[in-house]
Amino acid sequence: KAKEDGRKTFSYFTAELGVAAQKRIELETRLRRAVEREEFILHYQPKLAVDGGRIIGCEALLRWLSPDLGLVQPSDFIPVAEETGLIEAIGEWVLRKACRQAVQWSRHGLPELDVAVNLSARQLWQAELPVRIAGILHETGLDPNRLELELTESVIMGQETLAAERFGQLKSLGVKLAIDDFGTGYSSLAYLKRFPIDVLKIDRSFVRDIPDDANDMAIAAAIVAMARALRLTVVAEGVETLAQLAFLAEKACYAYQGYLFSPPVPAEDFERLLAADSARKP
Ligand code: C2E
Ligand code: MG
Ligand code: MG
Ligand code: MG
Repeated sequence: KAKEDGRKTFSYFTAELGVAAQKRIELETRLRRAVEREEFILHYQPKLAVDGGRIIGCEALLRWLSPDLGLVQPSDFIPVAEETGLIEAIGEWVLRKACRQAVQWSRHGLPELDVAVNLSARQLWQAELPVRIAGILHETGLDPNRLELELTESVIMGQETLAAERFGQLKSLGVKLAIDDFGTGYSSLAYLKRFPIDVLKIDRSFVRDIPDDANDMAIAAAIVAMARALRLTVVAEGVETLAQLAFLAEKACYAYQGYLFSPPVPAEDFERLLAADSARKP
């Protein structure tokens, strides 16, 4: 009787929890294969000067072109890549690809732009990360100060000492460091002073409801003012309307990204945007 109950319990679990677990294992298997077969592509979103509207840089954003699943967005596979550790291999591919691409655009006679790459927590904690990035910079020939590494506040929280050490190592390579999704991490502002940060990116959630939400406008304006006082470059994310851009201009925010100008696009399309921009009269 006890044996029978045991079996029942077991089959209950395989039936109920089994579906999610099975899906998860399938995704993991596909992702592992994707790394071997390099099924990834980068899209690039232009970053523009608020004042004058020129393209001053870009952010590389990862997509997975799966033969089974089609085009997969980062929110649907990066969490699994982080849990499994696959993000280390994927992240290295992203860095190499983005650096190579930036050098290639320069070779095509286009302006020398900064390229920003997102790093996950797991990558930051890799002891070899600084050496690997140094290797990629050397191999691709990209000027280190054209590479910007984006990290979120949440990465730092609770690990301030180790994070400060790793930021210092990265900074000594000559790269720029950016805090992504700024304002969402509930962290102390004190670390801004302690960390060698170059750029603050105002989270899209504070931009979205401008000019209807007075609180969001106050927060966005405060972040711009603080960034300027600390001599940091400040970039607004997710700018979709002219009213938002006008508000940012009034507050003297330095740069913006968003669908108003362009979503992230394939490299060829970005190259066309860049060519059109550089042909524009100053
Ligand atoms: P993120 O770094 O904050 O990137 C900004 C996200 O906002 C991108 O989503 C971009 O497509 C989207 N976005 C840009 N402008 C607008 C706008 O005007 N309106 C709206 N609604 N959205 C806008 P995406 O490409 O889906 O990336 C999501 C997140 O995935 C990124 O957020 C980043 O955290 C992560 N991610 C992307 N690529 C990589 C990567 O290579 N490595 C790692 N570790 N994470 C990555
Ligand atoms: Mg980012
Ligand atoms: Mg962001
Ligand atoms: Mg984000």
